[in-house]
Amino acid sequence: MTASASFNLAGRVALVTGGNRGIGRGIALGFAQAGAAVAIFGRNAEKNAEVLAELKATGARALALAVDVTDRTALEPAFRRVEVELGPVDILVNNAGIANVTGGILQETAESWDAVIETQLNAVFLLSKIAAASMATRKRGKIINVGSMYSYFGAGPIPSYSAAKGAIVQLTRSMAIELAPHGIQVNAIAPGWVETDMTAVVRTREFKTMNDEILARTPAGRWGQPEEMAGTAIFLASSAADFVTGETIRVDGGYAIR
Ligand code: NDP
Repeated sequence: MTASASFNLAGRVALVTGGNRGIGRGIALGFAQAGAAVAIFGRNAEKNAEVLAELKATGARALALAVDVTDRTALEPAFRRVEVELGPVDILVNNAGIANVTGGILQETAESWDAVIETQLNAVFLLSKIAAASMATRKRGKIINVGSMYSYFGAGPIPSYSAAKGAIVQLTRSMAIELAPHGIQVNAIAPGWVETDMTAVVRTREFKTMNDEILARTPAGRWGQPEEMAGTAIFLASSAADFVTGETIRVDGGYAIR
């Protein structure tokens, strides 16, 4: 296989959680353009339908399911439906996420904490467990988790988010060790500041100082676009990365290097 052919995802089936907008949509469309059949999970059926149409417009086989990843009983049946309709899942991207800005642990409630940990960490464990069991039967698979700059740095006002994203790096490494003998590679992408709904508030007038600080610290001098996460995801999902596992790759315009 030539080096460039090894990036091709033709014949692969990918599942992207939170694929109906933002980073997940960028990755899902990138996978479709690289030749994969793509399923997305998201709660909002209308947004799911919009992205399903975009995926199909690339010529890809695609499926969008209204799934709340925090509904533990929904994960297994939804995963099975993807496998029945598109085929065995080769690639899982655990991207669905929320960030609850509470101001810190003095204000944080247990309910808010639990919602973030359930979405950003527990669902990653549970869906990876289901996907890995399937992938192991074929001795082939890729699991890609989504970390953050807050995988590395503390975040005073959003401690649950930082706790979950820090744990993602270690869960990625742990699953990589366990699953390597089964032919499954587990890696993560740590996006820098990316222009999505989640970060929209930071681009409002009220947060101008914070936005200025982000831009000053980012050597690229700008926000990232969701589509810019796709290239790294395609690499990690492809056979070009068959000897890459347990890694978290920053895609941050250089934010973390200073
Ligand atoms: P968005 O808010 O734009 O999108 C979040 C996505 O997750 C949506 O598709 C949403 O769909 C889905 N989602 C949220 N909760 C659930 C749930 N319970 N079940 C199923 N789907 C869910 O966020 P981003 O695109 O910015 O974030 C994507 C990932 O990237 C997250 O893990 C985030 O933490 C991470 N990240 C983002 C950064 C950024 O700068 N934007 C930086 C670093 C990391 P729906 O609402 O329909 O369920």
